[in-house]
Amino acid sequence: MIVLRSIAETREAMRDARAGGGRVGFVPTMGALHDGHRALVRRARDENDTVVVSIFVNPAQFGPHEDLDAYPRPEETDLAVCRADGVDVVFHPSVPEMYPRRPLTSVRVSGVSEPLEGACRPGHFDGVALVVVKLLNIVGPCRAYFGRKDAQQLAVVRTFVDDLDIPAEIVACPTVRDADGLAMSSRNAYLSDGERRRALALPKALHAVAAAAGRGEKDVPSLLTLGRSVLDAGRPDAVDYLDCVDPDTFRTLERLGGPALVCGAIRVGGTRLIDNVLV
Ligand code: AMP
Repeated sequence: MIVLRSIAETREAMRDARAGGGRVGFVPTMGALHDGHRALVRRARDENDTVVVSIFVNPAQFGPHEDLDAYPRPEETDLAVCRADGVDVVFHPSVPEMYPRRPLTSVRVSGVSEPLEGACRPGHFDGVALVVVKLLNIVGPCRAYFGRKDAQQLAVVRTFVDDLDIPAEIVACPTVRDADGLAMSSRNAYLSDGERRRALALPKALHAVAAAAGRGEKDVPSLLTLGRSVLDAGRPDAVDYLDCVDPDTFRTLERLGGPALVCGAIRVGGTRLIDNVLV
């Protein structure tokens, strides 16, 4: 496994990897790797000749009062995880390597990036879109693996890849959960035991909604009232949203017809958690 810090070396390594028709699988991450990331890496390993993982805590996607400085950066452990999972190349750039000056270009995806996370975290998806466009330009043609845990991010990425003809095939991977049902996240490390118990209200609420939908309830306001009661019973410090949306456009649904995504975001202590289930 090689660890590259520069854009130029990474471009060159990827060019070499594609020479002769080699397929490149790319997993973009912010590090603090857990089993959710590892599932993406393993899938990329199965489906490609070369696997590249980027580790970059992207300042552009954090708001001014968010956890950019506190975000965990366990570099040695992350590299050991990548080595163990058969990664070929880790692209681990510094902030000045990625942003030598303040970028003057913005990548804004209208519609899908506006509700839910977009409304709670202004500018977040512009920062995500900017860095993912940059990373896909650096890595070049590839299959890129994203988790459904961040379903709105996945929809945003699919939209700009399609609009901008970026030569990447986007592969969506299922959400990996801990045994208690909490979706794995690098931010779970911030939770005390008590906070973690309260955080479990989020997956419980989403699964209660999915179960009711499975029994035939189609009225979204009724489903959300049920979900909200389960959520409130867990006493989170705040509920940012609980909604049922179209998985591609993220428009709010009034009635279930086709596929729908039930999405929630809560805050417990100082930690903000998001999750979703497909119904
Ligand atoms: P992050 O490091 O949080 O930016 O996440 C990097 C990638 O891993 C994104 O595509 C996430 O959606 C994905 N990911 C994070 N947590 C999970 C999880 N629990 N299950 C599946 N994918 C995940």
